[in-house]
Amino acid sequence: VKDDSDSNPTETALAAEVERLRSENDRHTRRIEQLERRISLQPQSGLPTHFRLEVELEGIIEGLKTTEDKRGLSLLILQLGESYAALRKTLKTSISEWILYQTGSRISSLLRAEDRLFHTRESEFVLVLPGLKGEGLAKFLRSLIPRLAEPHIFSGLNITIGASIGGAYWPEHGCERSPLMHHADIAAGASAERKRSFTLFKPELLSRAVERVELQNAIIKAIEQNGADRIGEQFYLLFQPKLFLGALEGDLLRIESIEAEILIRWRHPDKGVLSPTTFIPLAEETGLILPLGKWLIYQSARKLAAIMREVPVCSGLSINLSARQFHSDDAAEIVATALARSGARPADLTIEVTETGLFEDPETAAKILRKFNELGVKISMDDFGTGYSSLSHLHRFPLHEIKIDRQFIEDLSDNRQDQIIVRSLIAISRGMGLSLVAEGVEKPEAVRMLWDMGCTGFQGFLFAKPLSEDDFVAFCARIRAQGMTWKLGDRFESLEPSE
Ligand code: C2E
Ligand code: CA
Ligand code: CA
Repeated sequence: VKDDSDSNPTETALAAEVERLRSENDRHTRRIEQLERRISLQPQSGLPTHFRLEVELEGIIEGLKTTEDKRGLSLLILQLGESYAALRKTLKTSISEWILYQTGSRISSLLRAEDRLFHTRESEFVLVLPGLKGEGLAKFLRSLIPRLAEPHIFSGLNITIGASIGGAYWPEHGCERSPLMHHADIAAGASAERKRSFTLFKPELLSRAVERVELQNAIIKAIEQNGADRIGEQFYLLFQPKLFLGALEGDLLRIESIEAEILIRWRHPDKGVLSPTTFIPLAEETGLILPLGKWLIYQSARKLAAIMREVPVCSGLSINLSARQFHSDDAAEIVATALARSGARPADLTIEVTETGLFEDPETAAKILRKFNELGVKISMDDFGTGYSSLSHLHRFPLHEIKIDRQFIEDLSDNRQDQIIVRSLIAISRGMGLSLVAEGVEKPEAVRMLWDMGCTGFQGFLFAKPLSEDDFVAFCARIRAQGMTWKLGDRFESLEPSE
């Protein structure tokens, strides 16, 4: 056998193969390192991402366990407000990136050396604060929250982004990383839902979260699984009168016209009748507001046609469109088709949209409003005064009516500040030739005061709660029988339990 150990072709090939694999392996390792670096740092803020959070938080918790550090830690999850998501859609990427960068540096500027900050999702930051609980945490939040609320100034724009923060303590609210994170997340969700700046986790929040999921499933069942034509088995409409005055003589209101706002109710199979404030936000989140809203628009158009035919003193109805409905592509078409099919007149329908729904994206909103205007329906700005919109932009919208939010009306007669605000809201709206409605009117004194300030439209429990259709017809009949007057302080009592 020939000795060819020096140049054994198999061995040479093997060595080459090993070399090739080694360099491939190096390439892989470098690639992995590169990728790891990329996923560990958020490009917009330069902060570590949730990949780092997982590793580091685990390490920190292990450290605390072994050193028996009794001080524990706070984990905070900070979610940027809805206005960030809205901005993200309308403004240049460079602006939203600037805001993220700014937010990151604002938080960083308040941290101690041992604190850690992560940028976990585009609009979410996580803070790990060793030893900071109770009063110490409260003090930190007292400097953080106002710092976050400061406007971001960017090439002439003045942008304010709120944030909702949720917090959980180690070890009280979770001994391991995963439950601790989960509980802080639940607390952050509760903050966002209640429009609070901070919520500390507590076990009750868990049952609320479960309830939310159950409710969400029940809506899906009521709307999707049963099919559009069966939505009416669980949902129904109520009518709350809006009164427009021509005069106020002593205790006697002279009624110029009556309208009503349509308010939806859900007869939940187990929970009984639910208020829209519990299920409309869930329907918005899941997108189910679109089929539900479409059903409501068709129903409302039918009711409008019937009521206008049968109740001569009623001069119109209004419906509420949520922000998502209002911004959906075919909102105006749905309204147009519903009106055409029912034979109702567009001029008899008012669409109520909230101030926040309009101002989040003023340009698109103005376009949609023009479409509604071309249709001939009227537009009312709901909950006026609650958003942080600039009143000077109002003239950009083709509006017909303004509804002053209930919070200003509640204790108008005792609250000087509210009086000043309401007086100027009335002045602005009148200056623009808009019709005005005060909502949530519960006291006779409020009617006198508002009337003196120049407000002519009134809605509230003082006159009537949301009524069934039959009750609303009876309400109109009573006003007609009283020669189009109403005695201040009289309340319409339902003939049947409607809620
Ligand atoms: P909103 O449009 O501001 O409706 C007025 C709410 O205030 C109604 O609550 C009404 O019952 C209540 N209210 C009226 N007068 C008084 C009063 O004097 N005092 C007090 N404390 N409350 C009064 P409701 O029916 O629970 O509706 C809550 C919100 O749900 C509505 O606020 C509206 O934003 C939304 N919503 C109701 N129906 C619909 C709907 O069909 N579609 C959409 N998208 N949203 C709806
Ligand atoms: Ca409304
Ligand atoms: Ca309102």
